[in-house]
Amino acid sequence: MPTRFEVMNQAMNQVKHWQDGFKWESVPILKYKEEDSHFKNITRQVLFEGDPLLPVQWRYFEIDSEGNSTLERHEHIHVVMIIRGSGNALLGNQIVELNCFDVLQIPSYTWHQFRATNNEPLGFLCLVNKERDKPQLPNAENLEELRSDPQIAEFIRV
Ligand code: MN
Repeated sequence: MPTRFEVMNQAMNQVKHWQDGFKWESVPILKYKEEDSHFKNITRQVLFEGDPLLPVQWRYFEIDSEGNSTLERHEHIHVVMIIRGSGNALLGNQIVELNCFDVLQIPSYTWHQFRATNNEPLGFLCLVNKERDKPQLPNAENLEELRSDPQIAEFIRV
C-alpha cells in the first residue's frame, strides 16, 4: 500500500496541465534529437515517459513554420495526431496533407518526414514504443530511389 504522501505525489505527477503556447506544466521543452541528423526548427516535450504496464512514450513535437523533421525509417511504428496547425508529410511514396486532428500511422520501415509547409507551426502527438530501434537515415542509393518521383524529390529535405 502506498503512503498518503505517495498517493498525493502520484496524483501530482498524473496531471500535467496544458498551458498557452502548447506547453505542458512541468514538462521541459527539449531539443528534437540529441544526435546530429538533418532537421530544422523542431522541439520535443515528453508527456508520458512509459510505465512497465504501458511501455510507450507519448511525445509532443512542434515544427516551426518552414521547419522539418528528419527523413528516416525504422522498425518501430508511430501513431501521430496533429493537434496544432497543419502541414505535409512524406509517408512511404506519398506526400500527404495534414490538418488538425488528423491521425496518421507510420508503418515499419516506411520513409517519413514532416514539414510545416503552410506558414504556421505543425504540432503533433506521437506515440512510440519505449524500447525501439534507432532510426535509419537515407544513403545515396535510398535518396536516388526516393528522388525518382519528382514530387518527392521536391518535397524532401536532407
Ligand atoms: Mn520516426
